[in-house]
Amino acid sequence: MVIDGKMYAEKFMQEFGVRYSEYRDYFKRKIGIAVVQVEPDASSVSYLKRLMTTAAKADVDIYTCDLSFVNDTEQLMCEIEKLNLDSKIDGIIVHLPLPPRIEKRAVETICVTKDIDGLTTLNAGNLFLGNETAFYPGTPMGVMKLLEMCNVEIGGKRAVVLGRSNIVGKPMAQLLMKANATVTVCHSKTRNIAEVVRENDIVVSAIGKAEFVTADMIKEGAIVMDVGVNFSNGKICGDVDFKNVADKCSVITPVPNGCGPMTVCMLLDNALKGAIARTKALL
Ligand code: NAP
Repeated sequence: MVIDGKMYAEKFMQEFGVRYSEYRDYFKRKIGIAVVQVEPDASSVSYLKRLMTTAAKADVDIYTCDLSFVNDTEQLMCEIEKLNLDSKIDGIIVHLPLPPRIEKRAVETICVTKDIDGLTTLNAGNLFLGNETAFYPGTPMGVMKLLEMCNVEIGGKRAVVLGRSNIVGKPMAQLLMKANATVTVCHSKTRNIAEVVRENDIVVSAIGKAEFVTADMIKEGAIVMDVGVNFSNGKICGDVDFKNVADKCSVITPVPNGCGPMTVCMLLDNALKGAIARTKALL
């Protein structure tokens, strides 16, 4: 089964639309998301395009904040603080990476109730503790949603996550463990990675290396979720050698239109959840 990520995302957005229209009818307001870009690059431009298209269809407002003019750290934090206080904004996304010194401060400056990427210490900690109230990052949540929508059983299975970033790899491992998988995490220092991957029923790859995962690394009948977005010979491709791996799997996502579309849906969903929680708190 090749997962049609676009189709599942559209299906999810129909259900989101019902919940969102109830919210709008009751509270008489739209939800808004601010996207802060400091160093826009090709991948952030295409990501933003997808977010804007999906949000426009759902009637969610996107405010793009190009802060490339900001050359002072304090000024950047000030701009994020303004978004924290802006009542039109329900979610703030700071497009990463930023220089490491600035990145940590920028992320921690986002108000936890608007941190729809789930990157602040409090939200990441809540995921670690299994608390439901937190925002979980969109990409791993999207992978979990796709698995759920495709009726893939996770409990009791062995799962491997390739990559250990804060935005994908680590939260992905936590969510799979929360769903009762036995989880292994691989990274650039892992020895005998092919051998490790081959032992698993579920493989989620998020390393950003074109066609790194080859057919010989995959167990017959495995479920392969390819989060990687790479450019090779002018074409977009994933971390998985799709052509050769697909035949060995029971379920696989293509790139593009595999995991990507659901990421954006999860961000909109987080923004709606945040809006509901904050509006209720004001009542
Ligand atoms: P990242 O911060 O660069 O992290 C990459 C991870 O991969 C690191 O943990 C690194 O290990 C590991 N790695 C690198 N080379 C490796 C190798 N040869 N063998 C094993 N592990 C290796 O990237 P990211 O932000 O997590 O993103 C990962 C990929 O997902 C990228 O292609 C990105 O474009 C894509 N992405 C997709 C979506 C989506 O919605 N589809 C969303 C976000 C990101 P170390 O920790 O040891 O360095």
